[in-house]
Parts: sequence; structure tokens; C-alpha cells
Amino acid sequence: MYEIRLRALAKINLGLDVLRRREDGYHEVRMVMQTLKMYDKITIRKMKEPGIQLKSNLFYVPENEGNLAYRAAKMLADEFQLRQGIFIDLQKFIPVAAGMAGGSSDAAAVLYGVNRMFHLNLTKRQLMKRGVKIGADVPYCIMRGTVLAEGIGEQLTPLPPMPSCKVVVAKPQVSVSTKFVYDNLKLDGSIIHPDIGLLMEGIREGSLSKVAAHMGNVLESVTIPHYPVIAKIREEMMRLGALNAMMSGSGPTVFGLFDDENLAQEAYQELREGTLARQVYLTGVFNRG
Ligand code: ATP
Repeated sequence: MYEIRLRALAKINLGLDVLRRREDGYHEVRMVMQTLKMYDKITIRKMKEPGIQLKSNLFYVPENEGNLAYRAAKMLADEFQLRQGIFIDLQKFIPVAAGMAGGSSDAAAVLYGVNRMFHLNLTKRQLMKRGVKIGADVPYCIMRGTVLAEGIGEQLTPLPPMPSCKVVVAKPQVSVSTKFVYDNLKLDGSIIHPDIGLLMEGIREGSLSKVAAHMGNVLESVTIPHYPVIAKIREEMMRLGALNAMMSGSGPTVFGLFDDENLAQEAYQELREGTLARQVYLTGVFNRG
């Protein structure tokens, strides 16, 4: 096998709760993750000479160790002392620094692809164990689908697939650093925690309206006061008929769930024509199997 083509899928958080800050600075989270049918395209090729090379379509995405996909390839190349090199062509479509795990998903796809291409015979579990060293979301990006993520995000429990629906994704022009958001999170009495239990009940019952009713993200308490445009996009999505709309991860991307395809299409058009969001997408949820 000389070349392999992969799709690295984006995620949203249907629920994101932070339970506490650990001694080591990491945060203990409880999140319901959902994969979307929105992806970066990755082509991996073998090269004669050893080493890793990465090219991307976006000038501001790192093409060295700073890229999680590069690090994923290097990790396996070093461990298995691969004699051939790995070339990665990365076509980014997932918004960058947006709360959609774009970099983690690229790393997950490269781990999966290099494992197949070089016949390393690692199981998914073994890939996930290596992936967490690159980033807390990488194991989830290998598993994909509807999943409860606990610990620092690496303890995964698959859930039944969430009910199918349309998803409108809108990212304002601002960029948000995940570290900034967690550093400024105040876990005092004033914070409203989402009820992850009820959210999972909605998923188990296959009730999209119950899922929508119990969406929640504690990180909005940090990001929205700094970037009020996020709340404006959320309000606009609600006005345009979303069952509910919320910020994904540490933001600034907002997503809205729609049970009506025409409404979703109209919302997508309106947001594209408006000035609040810089990147707007219409997509759906991706489920395993
Ligand atoms: P998360 O949802 O995990 O917070 P994110 O969407 O906020 O992820 P990414 O798109 O993964 O963030 O990128 C954050 C930063 O990481 C970028 O600013 C970029 O410099 C760097 N980066 C590393 N690898 C990649 C990659 N493969 N694609 C895009 N950015 C990457």
C-alpha cells in the first residue's frame, strides 16, 4: 500500500461539565461528545527516505512538530523504527482553534492510517493509549460517535447513537485559546452545571428534544463575557428555529441542532449572509456502524 486517504471528523460537545481542578493543573471533566460529518482530508504516502513531512492548505497551520498529525506519525515511526518516511497531505476544512478538536482528529486519523499502511497490527485500544500522549481528545477521535468522556477526557464510555438531525455550525472571527478558558474558569457556587445524566437519558430514549433541552457547557461562563458575539450567534440560531444552540468545547464555534432540514438550510443561508459568523457550515451527526 503506497497511499491511504482518510477523513478526520470534527466533534461537538453536547454537554461539557468541569468537576474540579486537579493538583497537576488538568481539569476533571464530564462531557458528552458527538462526531459530525465534517472533516479534514488527509492523504498519507510512503517516502523512500525516513522522516516525516507535512504539507497543509492553510499557511497558519504548523507543518512541523507543532502539528498534532506530524507528532502522531513521528510517534509510530520512532517506536517501530520505520525505515521508510511518511508524507502527510493535510487539507483543513474543520475550523482551527475552534473547539471542534480538529488537530486531535487529524492526529487520530494519522495513527489509524500509519498503523494500517505499515501493518503495525495495533488494536484501536493500543492506538488510543498512544493517542492520549498527544492530546486528551485523541482517544475519543479514534473511537468516534456518541460518547461520555470523563477523567481529563480520555476515559470513554460509548453511548447509543444520538438521534439523527441537522447541525448548523458557525464560527465568529475570534480565536480562543483553550488554555486561556480553563485558566479563567471559576468553579464557585455561581456556575451553572449542565445535567449530564438527563442529557444521556435523552440520548438513551432517542429523544432529540430532550437532548436539546439538556445541552449545556460550563465554559460559556468564561468565553461569552470575553466574546459576546458567541451569545449573539446562539440567539440568532434560536430565532432561526434551532431546537437549541450552544458553544462547542472552549469555543468560539457555536452549533445549533435542527429537526427540520428546510429550517436548517434557511438558517445556514441567513448566517452565511449575515456578519456575525466568519465560517458557516451545514452538516449532520456521524454515528458508528
Ligand atoms: P479543541 O476542540 O481540542 O480545543 P481546537 O479546535 O480548539 O481543538 P485545533 O484546531 O486542534 O484546536 O488547533 C489549535 C492549535 O493547534 C492551532 O492554533 C494550531 O496552531 C495547532 N495545531 C496543531 N495541529 C493542528 C492541526 N492538525 N490542525 C490545525 N491546527 C493544529
